[in-house]
Amino acid sequence: MLKEIKILSDHGKQFVPDLRNQPVSERFRGRPVISADITSVQVRSAATLCPTGAIDSSSGAIDLGRCAFCNECALAMPEVYRFTNDYRIAAARRENLIIKPGQNGPLRIDDASVRKEVRRLFRRSLKLRQVSAGGDNSCEMELGASGNVNFDMGRYGIEFVASPRHADGIVITGPVSENMAGALEISYDATPAPKVIILVGTDAISGGLFAGSPALKRDFIESHHIDLYVPGNPAHPLTFINGVMDLLGI
Ligand code: SF4
Repeated sequence: MLKEIKILSDHGKQFVPDLRNQPVSERFRGRPVISADITSVQVRSAATLCPTGAIDSSSGAIDLGRCAFCNECALAMPEVYRFTNDYRIAAARRENLIIKPGQNGPLRIDDASVRKEVRRLFRRSLKLRQVSAGGDNSCEMELGASGNVNFDMGRYGIEFVASPRHADGIVITGPVSENMAGALEISYDATPAPKVIILVGTDAISGGLFAGSPALKRDFIESHHIDLYVPGNPAHPLTFINGVMDLLGI
């Protein structure tokens, strides 16, 4: 018994006590800030260098749903583009993922954009089935980490389950390859209604680097209501957990 107590004492707390305010490395790339003084020449230059077309060629705004968080814009124009380590960047509306020049406030989910039944039914317990639709296992690993002993989202009743039949919704990663489009439909159909759809990562939200590829079949994404967009490449567990907590109003 003494040995076990000593081990516990040596290890300290394994879990993150406050998932809302956990400090992360300064080097983590989260919410970007764009100078309000960006010039038209800088806008064009940034839009040209961005590999995913995330930078709007007329305003210089960054679409987090398309951003690969590669840091190229910040390296090329540090006086204009920089990334904060703010990981709370999930949104319930696609348009809220667009960060405009001069915008420098936290992103928070607008209560009015959340379906009422989502909070009423799932606030205390949300079981999710993860579907990797052509993903590269990066977002999938981070989602796995969301339930580990450190992040432990299960403390809020948020868990992944093995079957869509046991789930309240699906979490989609990957750009949705043609080969996975049918399986995605089957998983969604097998999930009992009412249900939620959450997109995790740049690839799922926009196709990312693969956007426009003939190997993708994104009809499902375009034809269903998406409850939560979780940007990142890959998305951080804290981004996912905070996004889901905001969605549920926890
Ligand atoms: S960090 Fe995002 S916006 Fe900047 S160049 Fe890379 S993909 Fe484009």
